[in-house]
Amino acid sequence: MTQDYRVLLYYKYVPIEDGTVFAEQHLLECKKIGLKGRILVADEGINGTVSGTVEQTDAYMELMNADSRFSKMVFKIDEAEEHAFKKMHVRYRPELVNLSLEDDINPLDLTGDYLTPKEFHEAMLAEDTVVIDARNDYEFDLGHFRGAIRPEIRNFRELPQWIRDNKEQFMEKRVLTYCTGGIRCEKFSGWLVREGFKDVGQLHGGIATYGKDPEVQGDLWDGQMYVFDSRIAVSINQKEHIIVGRDWFDGSPCERYINCANPECNRRILSSEENEIKYLGSCSQECRIHPNNRYIASHHLSEDEVNAALALIEKVS
Ligand SMILES: [Zn+2]
Repeated sequence: MTQDYRVLLYYKYVPIEDGTVFAEQHLLECKKIGLKGRILVADEGINGTVSGTVEQTDAYMELMNADSRFSKMVFKIDEAEEHAFKKMHVRYRPELVNLSLEDDINPLDLTGDYLTPKEFHEAMLAEDTVVIDARNDYEFDLGHFRGAIRPEIRNFRELPQWIRDNKEQFMEKRVLTYCTGGIRCEKFSGWLVREGFKDVGQLHGGIATYGKDPEVQGDLWDGQMYVFDSRIAVSINQKEHIIVGRDWFDGSPCERYINCANPECNRRILSSEENEIKYLGSCSQECRIHPNNRYIASHHLSEDEVNAALALIEKVS
């Protein structure tokens, strides 16, 4: 297996003026280098995942480090066999991370304590500590820190309200939070501090950094880490691999993602290939019979074939 490619994951909270202009120019520069990936630019900073050859990714890091705003930006580097994206996008957004706050948090002013992987590992094992996963439910379901709390939310924006509704459980404890690369936690942990939580720690550099730490070696992580590129799942725990993902349909161990075939639902679910076929790639009966069902269209299923599949599902349930 040749590992001639790399995937870079990075972010930086730093003021960027004229974000739309910066995004346009940055796209041209990325294309010139030959990178593929997805980059978000906002007034509050930059967040990206890009893939390319070793030479291309080197050129990109050099380019960024030459800009004083990004000279100290940390790149998390994964080796890869090929590009992790099909295209190159650079998009401007009003904010990098959306917590739907009226009064947004600037992590440069207010954020939780930064914990190294080793400190985070120790803190997880201590008593009176709660670990809150700051990612979406479908990311948690593929893998998470052992004993971490899975907020009942489908989107990061809903997290503050969920915390407020469940505050009593955590208020008097040390709260630890983590996310993929650290960007969401910077804002979320700052918000926790503002909400009055006394002891808030965040995993610096996120799960991606934790998995590479030579000392902790991903210990206490179960399952795989969900990533927003074509790899989808990345290994973190170097010592053991416990599958925590469960097939949406039959609950058996599973680490394979599909999107519900109803375009209006689109829910990320874990499913074996067998169950994807059996359940027409859809999370519910309602989604299965949706007139725009993508699975039915792309597999050119006739009405009789669909009805036969539905009858079979009815029989088992
Ligand atoms: Zn659905």
